[in-house]
Amino acid sequence: MSTTVADTTQPAERQWSPLVGSALLARLAARAAVAEPSETITVEAPFTGERLGEVPKGSSADVSAAVARARDAQREWARWPVAERAELLHRFYDLVTARSREICDLVQLEAGKARRDAFEEVLDVVTKARHNAHIVAACLHPKRRQGAIPLLTRTRELHPPRGVVGIISPWNYPFTLTVGDAIPALVAGNGVVLKPDSLTPYSALWAAEAMAEGGMPEGLFAIVPGSGAELGEALIDAADYITFTGSTATGRIVAAQAASRITDCAMELGGKNPLLVLPDARLGPAVRGATNGICSSAGQLCVSIERVYVHDAVYDTFVPRLAESLRNVRLGAQLDFSVDMGCLIGPDQLAKVTRHVDDAVAKGAEVLAGGRARPDLGPYFYEPTLLAGVTEDMTVCREETFGPVASVYRCASVDEMIARANDSEYGLSSSVWTRDARAGRAVAERLHIGAVNINDAYAAAWASASPMGGFKTSGLGRRHGRAGLLRFTETQTVAHQRIAHIDTPPFLTHGQYAKVLGLTVRVFRHIPWID
Ligand code: NAD
Repeated sequence: MSTTVADTTQPAERQWSPLVGSALLARLAARAAVAEPSETITVEAPFTGERLGEVPKGSSADVSAAVARARDAQREWARWPVAERAELLHRFYDLVTARSREICDLVQLEAGKARRDAFEEVLDVVTKARHNAHIVAACLHPKRRQGAIPLLTRTRELHPPRGVVGIISPWNYPFTLTVGDAIPALVAGNGVVLKPDSLTPYSALWAAEAMAEGGMPEGLFAIVPGSGAELGEALIDAADYITFTGSTATGRIVAAQAASRITDCAMELGGKNPLLVLPDARLGPAVRGATNGICSSAGQLCVSIERVYVHDAVYDTFVPRLAESLRNVRLGAQLDFSVDMGCLIGPDQLAKVTRHVDDAVAKGAEVLAGGRARPDLGPYFYEPTLLAGVTEDMTVCREETFGPVASVYRCASVDEMIARANDSEYGLSSSVWTRDARAGRAVAERLHIGAVNINDAYAAAWASASPMGGFKTSGLGRRHGRAGLLRFTETQTVAHQRIAHIDTPPFLTHGQYAKVLGLTVRVFRHIPWID
């Protein structure tokens, strides 16, 4: 990504695919909530390094204006019947499924990922739209709660929207991690102002266009592309809730800024996710699962696998099969399902992956598969890589690589596998392979990790309706399911005291009242159905 002083010369007319060309990209760029752009962001196509297009670069004033407009629109939106807000998500679902080829092309072009990974994003987004449309009424419906004085206090728990939600998102899943979080925020009754990563702004702009076509009120869902530090601060200043997805390093800055303003936030951060192959695992599926976990989105997936712990009993069979499977992964830039893996996002990511592998090799690690860039395919292609003999002094041992690189370790026992899997500052996702479901669940209970996939690499937990998020430095808060919707609401308690208010009655002294209460408390001890 580079920024240049506004230059009206748009890239030459070009049709990147039958459905995505300069006209669509210019139309999407015009949707950015930027008033008078003085600068633009040049977006590259990672497959070739060519200039894909230009989007306006927003300023902190644009963020403040977008939040103000979203706040105005939100007041009306919050009054819409919940069923009508949900209906809008159903229309969005229909639009995305009808135009899935276009958005798949766009995601591939701006993120450099394989078709199967782009399709996974589309599937994830439509599933979220449908799921949130179905659960929103039950989530927001007021709930009766136990009152302070049984029968005399009527207490209800309400969930009004936060107001305007600020979303800061990374480049690795430009559709899922932008509109995927906007969906529950919007249907809960909020406005949303989203700052996408400058490397991949188009998918979020496409989502905003589809939402508008579906009937989303003007200004309610705004996209402001631009610098993280500048726009991030303005967004945290103005929004009522922040959801951030990105690196742990940036997450610390964003969380500190949100804390200083007493703004609630969720942090979806980095990982160094382990995969455990137990001695009774079915090795064929485990090899395929590990390959998928290492190579999805070229390893640029927060829940991808970077550490593989294999029980001694199966190490000598499993590891050569995994290495062979990784060597057979088909790399390419085709906008169809004919390849398995795309490329890295750009030069910084290529440099980081190369540095991690070269450092490990220089310090004695063995390359069992891959270990090199593939400039013959495109500027940022890197082969799926498996390393053995990785030791503590190697950067790849503990740091997140965020590329198609995993280290494999031989373990003498399941206890050792669990201890090593837990020995990380991160705790985002994990994968456990065993024929014995009960043993798998027992291992899961001992892992200090937010998501545990038994006999799957990552998708089983991610795609479920159960909350998703990290332990330790992998994050704060949870997305998905009811918790993922309710985080975009405040919790309000409305207690209606009937007959007498809670105070010493005029016919008793404070001491007599205390005695009555003391007696009541002792009696209640024996009435278990009153909490
Ligand atoms: P990043 O932290 O560099 O950037 C993420 C976003 O933050 C971008 O939009 C960026 O512009 C913005 N930003 C940068 N500096 C900022 C600042 N000072 N204030 C506010 N915003 C700022 O992360 P990245 O490299 O784009 O993404 C990769 C990382 O994201 C990896 O560590 C990966 O594990 C993590 N990730 C986590 C999840 C999850 O669900 N836990 C999902 C995807 C990615």
